[in-house]
Amino acid sequence: MPIRVLTPQEAARIAAGEVIERPASVVKELVENSLDAGARQITVETRQGGITFIRVTDDGYGIEPEELRIAFERHATSKLTSEEELWRIETLGFRGEALPSMAAAADVEMVSRPSGALVAGRVVLKEGVVEHQGSAGAPPGTSTTVQNLFQRQPGRLKFMRSAAAEGGQIANVVTQYALAYPEVRFTLRNDGREQLATPGNDDLRDTAAAVYGVDVAAELLPLHKDAQGSIQPAGLIGSPAVSRANRSYISLFVNRRWIRHRALTFAIGEAYQGMLPAGRHPIAIVEVRLPPDQVDVNVHPAKAEVRFRDERAVFAVVQRAVRRTLSDRVPVPGVEASLTATAPPDFLLRGEGASSPASGVAPTLSFQPQEARTAPQVATAEQAAFVDQLPVLRPVGQLGNTYVIAEGPDGMYMIDQHAAHERILYERFLGQQREGVREVQPLLQPAPVELTARQLSLLESYGEQLTAMGLDIEPFGDGAYVVRAVPPSMTGKDAASAVPELLDLLGREDGPKEEPAHRVAASLACHGSVRAGQSMTDEEQRELLQSLEQCEHPRTCPHGRPTMVHMSSNELAKQFRRR
Ligand code: ADP
Ligand code: MG
Repeated sequence: MPIRVLTPQEAARIAAGEVIERPASVVKELVENSLDAGARQITVETRQGGITFIRVTDDGYGIEPEELRIAFERHATSKLTSEEELWRIETLGFRGEALPSMAAAADVEMVSRPSGALVAGRVVLKEGVVEHQGSAGAPPGTSTTVQNLFQRQPGRLKFMRSAAAEGGQIANVVTQYALAYPEVRFTLRNDGREQLATPGNDDLRDTAAAVYGVDVAAELLPLHKDAQGSIQPAGLIGSPAVSRANRSYISLFVNRRWIRHRALTFAIGEAYQGMLPAGRHPIAIVEVRLPPDQVDVNVHPAKAEVRFRDERAVFAVVQRAVRRTLSDRVPVPGVEASLTATAPPDFLLRGEGASSPASGVAPTLSFQPQEARTAPQVATAEQAAFVDQLPVLRPVGQLGNTYVIAEGPDGMYMIDQHAAHERILYERFLGQQREGVREVQPLLQPAPVELTARQLSLLESYGEQLTAMGLDIEPFGDGAYVVRAVPPSMTGKDAASAVPELLDLLGREDGPKEEPAHRVAASLACHGSVRAGQSMTDEEQRELLQSLEQCEHPRTCPHGRPTMVHMSSNELAKQFRRR
């Protein structure tokens, strides 16, 4: 076939395809332009998930009418004035490709009124050429409308998914930028229905509440601040009480740019090691600020990825901050020991030096729960329903009446007897609730109890679940109550004190934030399980381990704390210098 030079229009379309892949890319580019224009209010309206209609309106500084047309020319940008600036980019846009790419792929109209001007300029483009130019009445700011995306490119159109799927991607883009810019008020409407509205009050927690709900927002911890160093992480991360089934709730921003970064996302998840049930992932909103010359943002057509000059340093700082934040709040055995040991696997690191292990790491006892060792399954962990099978464990004895030491096929396990028992009971109670099994232990003599106002309100909120679990309690007049039956796990205890204790546990702030059924199961489990300091017979230890083996998530207690730490045969041999 003879070699032929593409026509400018063909070339433009091919290049445009790199930037504008789907409706969400249009929204991303327009929102970035609005943010670069200093907008404090950004409204995104779509129809049919953006397939037929997208409009982004801002109150930013606008474009001079005589420049409107130029903005749609290829490589026309106001954001770079010299080539060196490319190495220290501080705006979201810099290539001048977004608007021409949109115009090549859709029908575009832009109305813009600069802050000082009395009227707005307006351009309409079809097939990449200006069809109309004039003035219009509009408030200060810019409004861009993109319609009929890819209508002239059947090849592209084929790749478009359902309106719901495309709309979902748009919602994600707007959500991410809303989290990155809490000082900006974002509104998203699809087919006239409001999907997101953030307050724009510069409060990340309030913004997170608009995105994830107030319950989750209340569980977010401010990221530990490091006073020194040029790499500064900031943001909010979820306490282990809230978790998600995949990693898409980990939001990453670098110098206020939303990015995707597999390895860094992974590093954040790693920092939660042992604190979340297997197969669960944290919620996190993490921004890394670093000098612009330490990061190359010009590596991806849609600017969705960046390259750090010193990737390891960024990971170390972020992981340390996450670890600190969590260990300040939830002291977990083994956290400090594993602090130095959790560099992401090398295959996730790009670039040179990736295969050399981090040097200067002192040998540490990495008392990590076992899922650490299955870590490199980045791609699969999300899809596979997680079956967490414990090996068969043989009890060796009890330590300090608190831990059961056990032997497994690969080394030694130390099990926290209370946490393990809590896990066992928790899953048992959840199962009972699910299957509607009601086990009650009637009391020989009804026991009168006194409840505080707080306990009473908890009794009211969780009454249904408590009854289902076997608690039978009735008002006795004059604010007094009488207990007639208790769940079997509470037999042998003095009901007059056990019931208020249970209610207090229910009201505890660190319980799982999930549905009432979970909370009730967790409180009953905590109340009914063996305490630290209680001695256990060999038979009881064996039973504990066997029941733990049957659990669905045996490695953490209902609060996300580890039930066990593992020291592999390998590590043991290393510690004794046998190899
Ligand atoms: P880039 O953002 O890379 O500069 P674009 O094609 O996205 O390229 O935009 C071209 C130019 O149009 C920008 O440099 C900016 O000057 C102007 N512009 C685009 N959108 C807006 C907006 N919402 N408000 C103000 N100016 C804008
Ligand atoms: Mg742009």
